[in-house]
Amino acid sequence: MIETKAYAAQNETTPLAPWTFDRREVGANDVQFDITYCGVCHSDLHQIKNDWFPGIFPMVPGHEIVGQVVKVGSHVTKFKVGDIAGTGCMVNSCRVCENCKQDLEQYCLKGSSQTYNGVEQDGKTPTYGGYSNTIVVNEDFVLHISDKLHLAAVAPLLCAGITTYSPLKHWKVGKGHKLAVLGLGGLGHMAVKFGVAFGAEVTVLSTSPKKEEDAKKLGAHHFVVTTDPAQLEAAKGTFDFILDTVSAPHDFNMYLGLLRTNGIHICVGVPPEPAQIEAFSLLGGRKSLAGSGIGGIAETQEMLDYCAANNIVSDIEIIDIKDIQAAYDRMVKGDVRYRFVIDMATL
Ligand code: NAP
Ligand code: ZN
Repeated sequence: MIETKAYAAQNETTPLAPWTFDRREVGANDVQFDITYCGVCHSDLHQIKNDWFPGIFPMVPGHEIVGQVVKVGSHVTKFKVGDIAGTGCMVNSCRVCENCKQDLEQYCLKGSSQTYNGVEQDGKTPTYGGYSNTIVVNEDFVLHISDKLHLAAVAPLLCAGITTYSPLKHWKVGKGHKLAVLGLGGLGHMAVKFGVAFGAEVTVLSTSPKKEEDAKKLGAHHFVVTTDPAQLEAAKGTFDFILDTVSAPHDFNMYLGLLRTNGIHICVGVPPEPAQIEAFSLLGGRKSLAGSGIGGIAETQEMLDYCAANNIVSDIEIIDIKDIQAAYDRMVKGDVRYRFVIDMATL
């Protein structure tokens, strides 16, 4: 067993605190890498708070994990000691269902193994995430990271990056499209970067007027303050796509009204409560409400390679692990510019 230092939540009400646990020995097909940085996703907070479903505790959050390989199993072919490596939201899947066979492991019909707050494919061994000093992952779920990019700023690509890249690719969002990015946080700011890189005309829909300057610096062409009725009225019926990254309950019917005929509202944000959708909001203008979850391993590698080639990283604020609670508090207030990344040397 590999003794591992971590920060964990012991239940849904206590703050994160130091915790030690054992990871499995490096198996024949495993890669062990020491974690240098781990991004802080709003999903970490949702899961610690049991926002979506009762969690598995103690919970070590973190699924935007980067570091350096320290050991590889005897059958490992894709990695060697010293490589820079990363892991996102999944650490395994069944490999044989029709979705896994199409590189859509995130939609594994048996259920992919989440990096934390989940279980391995044996259905019982709990998984522990990246707020820790080292991790052991099957090599097929480890990503190669270019040494050209600032490593701390790469970490958020493993979740915020792929979660926004994948739907934009799937719906072929690009030149000639008007894309609205709803919510300028961790996912939202990556959606702006990718949307602009793919050639779309990008508008940020935000509740925070103070983020306008940042949105423009990120490349957005327009900025709409969603709490201003006049700005909302002017935006009605104008977008081909809305990529919805909002973490809190919000009025879908109002946002559906901003789409053009045949427009698509893509949910990636996961508010804790179900939404109320009026059929009229969809049928007037033949609109679609869709969703997308992270991305498959091959697509995640494609995204990382695209980012290395095009010099795309996340805009980050590096924090000490002891300040994680303060980071969560700021995240809840929408005050993230635009992803917290934990320096794991502070563990
Ligand atoms: P985040 O950094 O906290 O950003 C969320 C943004 O939503 C905020 O910055 C804020 O932007 C906006 N917002 C918050 N409350 C709002 C409200 N009541 N009404 C309208 N806008 C509001 O969070 P994140 O890490 O980007 O994650 C966003 C969501 O995506 C979370 O629910 C997370 O769990 C989910 N997620 C899903 C996947 C997936 O696979 N689909 C993957 C990762 C994360 P403004 O200040 O601009 O309004
Ligand atoms: Zn995430």
